[in-house]
Amino acid sequence: MELEGKVSLVSGSSRGIGRAIAIMLAEAGSDVVVNYVSNRDAAEEVVGRIKRLGRRAVAYQADVSKTDQSMDMIEKAQKEFGLIQILVNNAGITRDRSFLKISPEQWHEVLLVNLNGPFNLIGRLLPNMVESKWGRIINITSIVGQIGSFGQSNYAVAKGGLMAFTKTLAKEVATKGITVNAVSPGYIETDMTAVVPDNVLDSVRQLTPMGRLGKPEEVAIAVRFLADPRASFITGTIINVNGGMYM
Ligand code: NAP
Repeated sequence: MELEGKVSLVSGSSRGIGRAIAIMLAEAGSDVVVNYVSNRDAAEEVVGRIKRLGRRAVAYQADVSKTDQSMDMIEKAQKEFGLIQILVNNAGITRDRSFLKISPEQWHEVLLVNLNGPFNLIGRLLPNMVESKWGRIINITSIVGQIGSFGQSNYAVAKGGLMAFTKTLAKEVATKGITVNAVSPGYIETDMTAVVPDNVLDSVRQLTPMGRLGKPEEVAIAVRFLADPRASFITGTIINVNGGMYM
């Protein structure tokens, strides 16, 4: 129960990796602010799971790419829960298209959710963390931001940018009791990869030394580790959770 008394916000925690993170942080003792953009029922299911663990949880609908919705969610959540000191920037989308065919809308949409989303949430929560002299910011990036991927220039730029943001912010707040780290998954079994063609997933398995895709809980455990108050000398790092696909 290393996170007893703490409040976490996990963006995009109605499904997939975010859902697993929200539940695992609750298992570690944290109350959890669950966030979703459209799947209310799925978010309420996660809230139910967390409450059954004996922790507080509420689901808030907010599109993290929108500053006003992000601010509104945080105002309401802090009124209900108190200070949010653990922020997991997990919400993310893909709009895959080779660069020659990509539209400006597809480019911007991915950057707005995957990069401006973290900007919005960090921007609102960081002053509180500084004031309280403790905080954990954990950004969910991607192997694609490290090695590139055909048809994912928008996503690779957003995730690569989020890694650079992680390191820069880690330096800026290093003396303030706040750590800023990234967890970089390889290919994980979620709705996001369910739409990837079978032949592409077969080649992913071949390129992965472990020969399989990962599970959301295998990403969540790295987040739980970084959120632990004892992980206090680890900042600006990227933990790869990719079955050895990129070392
Ligand atoms: P997923 O199954 O598609 O779930 C996405 C989650 O993000 C959902 O909870 C969704 O809410 C939420 N979301 C989407 N757009 C949002 C927005 N604008 N504002 C707030 N919430 C939003 O995705 P996933 O596979 O779990 O991925 C989670 C994170 O891991 C993403 O950042 C992704 O880029 C990263 N990642 C995934 C993989 C992988 O193989 N799956 C690999 C590397 C990195 P709704 O349910 O309401 O739609």
